[in-house]
Amino acid sequence: MAAVLDGRRLAAEIERRLQAVIDAHLTEVGRPPGLAVLRVGDDPASGVYVANKEKACARIGIRNLGAHLSAHTSAEDVQATIERLNADPAVDGILLQLPLPSGLREGPLLAAIDPEKDADGLHTLNLGRLVKGEPGPRGCTPAGVMALLRQAQVPLDGCRAVVVGRSILVGKPMALMLQAANATVSVAHSHTPDLAALTRQAEVLVVAAGRPRMIRAEHVQPGAVVVDVGIHRLPPEANGDPSSKGRLCGDVDWEEVEPLAGAITPVPGGVGPMTVTMLLVNTVVAWCHRQNRPHGLEDLVG
Ligand code: NAP
Repeated sequence: MAAVLDGRRLAAEIERRLQAVIDAHLTEVGRPPGLAVLRVGDDPASGVYVANKEKACARIGIRNLGAHLSAHTSAEDVQATIERLNADPAVDGILLQLPLPSGLREGPLLAAIDPEKDADGLHTLNLGRLVKGEPGPRGCTPAGVMALLRQAQVPLDGCRAVVVGRSILVGKPMALMLQAANATVSVAHSHTPDLAALTRQAEVLVVAAGRPRMIRAEHVQPGAVVVDVGIHRLPPEANGDPSSKGRLCGDVDWEEVEPLAGAITPVPGGVGPMTVTMLLVNTVVAWCHRQNRPHGLEDLVG
């Protein structure tokens, strides 16, 4: 049986550390950290993600300074909102919730966020800092995966790692972070021939392909550490109850892979909670930086 890499438990531990950092500085700083999650339009999945982020902020005393704009907002008006948040001294972190409604291009809007307030680590400057190994806010999902692997003391130095997926949000920064930890990394994508032959070489396999249960027993080396970034809601019929909400699954077929793997992240309860927590980490670190105060979170940030 594989060891389960419990994202919920680690996220709760990190939240306690963040709470302690906030408590230590709050009186002297005179204001709590502030995070602005900017939502445009009414994508239902985004609504759930934003609500989870807002609840997490409330748990540890980060002030929620977000805004919800209509799907018909022009690019100029979204940009003006971002510029207002950039200039607001109470805001330490800004996150533009993706995807945006069709008609709005995410590139120019992500570029409008002050790189020092870029809580999602997606600004071109911060991606460049990651490439160069310079400090800066890192993408929340890959940083959350790294925290889970470190907590489980997975030996990354010299290991063979494979990342399935090459998005800017997950796959590419994930590969760079594993490489920075001295893993030898291959990146697979939709044009990779014979995926299973490649993934079977992995001692650490991170899957972010957005394809429900695509990684099966044939893709996994026995004893490998398997990190499942994917998240999907299966149709209710899939668990035999059409009236139910439909259960969640990842990109990894748990039933086939768990008996083979050395360690594995569950869905839900693996990478998802860590993504939210790393957003809080980036916000608290930015708050400390802006006040020139120590945070003691160096093990979690790049
Ligand atoms: P994305 O932008 O759609 O990227 C998917 C990547 O997977 C692409 O690079 C694609 O290759 C590759 N891919 C697709 N099918 C493949 C196949 N059959 N074989 C090999 N590679 C394949 O998705 P994303 O934003 O990276 O997200 C990936 C998944 O993670 C989604 O399920 C998303 O919901 C989930 N996610 C979860 C969290 C969390 O907190 N748990 C956070 C972010 C994302 P090409 O480049 O060739 O198209």
